[in-house]
Amino acid sequence: MASTDTYLMPATLADALKLADEYGGNCRIIAGGTDVMPNRFQGNDTAPYLIDISRLNELRKLEKKDSSIVIGSLTTLEEVSNNAEILKYFPALAEAANSAATPVIRKSATLGGNLLCENRCIFYNQSEWWREAVGYCLKCNGDICIASGGNKRCFSKFVSDTAAALISMDAYAEIITHEGPSNLKLEDLYTGDGIQPRNIKAGTVIKAIHLPINNSSRTVFKKLRLRKSLDFTSLSTSVTLKSDSLLKIVLCGVDPGPVVLNKRADDNKDDIIATALKKSRIVDNDVFSRGYRREMIRVFLRRSFTELGILK
Ligand SMILES: Cc1cc2nc3c(=O)[nH]c(=O)nc-3n(C[C@H](O)[C@H](O)[C@H](O)COP(=O)(O)OP(=O)(O)OC[C@H]3O[C@@H](n4cnc5c(N)ncnc54)[C@H](O)[C@@H]3O)c2cc1C
Repeated sequence: MASTDTYLMPATLADALKLADEYGGNCRIIAGGTDVMPNRFQGNDTAPYLIDISRLNELRKLEKKDSSIVIGSLTTLEEVSNNAEILKYFPALAEAANSAATPVIRKSATLGGNLLCENRCIFYNQSEWWREAVGYCLKCNGDICIASGGNKRCFSKFVSDTAAALISMDAYAEIITHEGPSNLKLEDLYTGDGIQPRNIKAGTVIKAIHLPINNSSRTVFKKLRLRKSLDFTSLSTSVTLKSDSLLKIVLCGVDPGPVVLNKRADDNKDDIIATALKKSRIVDNDVFSRGYRREMIRVFLRRSFTELGILK
């Protein structure tokens, strides 16, 4: 961190929101810091004010409320993967949380931070000198997307595993700014733009995630990565079959935002897969090739449909 940076640790949510309002685009909320700090060390995050929200215990609750589970944004990924209510009602969310990062990182990494972790690309998540040597890409003030061979749009990957599971389960985010609280369907939290992937203004705090309990829904989560103990996702899929035969499919790791498809269980499966492939803007910005990841979309979706009993 540069010596001119200011680290702020508000004791209340009201104080945090006041600071966020005061510093606007110059501030960065920090929770577990497992995404913010590597980005700062690489020079990709230069906000001069860090607002540490880790003392705000009101963001830590995890409880069953009526017919929902409410998960405070400071709940760690380890807590999400071990919680009895989540394991009972949303085992695929526990699996997704448990698949992210490493056991040590999951002890600090929070759910809110995972939902807002920065998009990734092999041409972006590099040291300053490396990025300078290859010529800066669009996401760090360059002119072109290097991964796509010169495109004028950024194709950095959206990599949150918990977002894949939560969106397919119809979760929504309870967010708050200095102006007041509001709710946002989780998929609406994302723009699909690689440079500015989040649809909320700087300083907005996610308070909690609400998950409606629907006992007859079933979700299958799958993930592709090189080393199961460490690497970011190269493709995550989450497919939820609801009681009314609606199918919600979410793909992460293959587009600048989550790819969401709302289908019916009796729709033609090859057509569903063709639509998923068409919507996923995959470029060669991962350790696996574009062609392999496209093929794995087909494999994961077919396996998920079979496990849900809607494909023989
Ligand atoms: C080696 C490694 C491997 C990883 N592998 C995976 C993986 O496979 N899958 C995966 O999904 N993730 C992976 N991650 C990402 C990891 O899960 C995230 O770093 C972590 O979840 C972020 O949580 P945090 O609390 O540390 O967030 P921070 O680093 O503190 O913050 C991350 C972002 O979220 C914002 N933020 C945090 N909390 C809030 C809040 N309550 N309200 C508003 N904004 C907030 C911050 O401003 C920042 O922009 C990996 C990380 C590492 C370092």
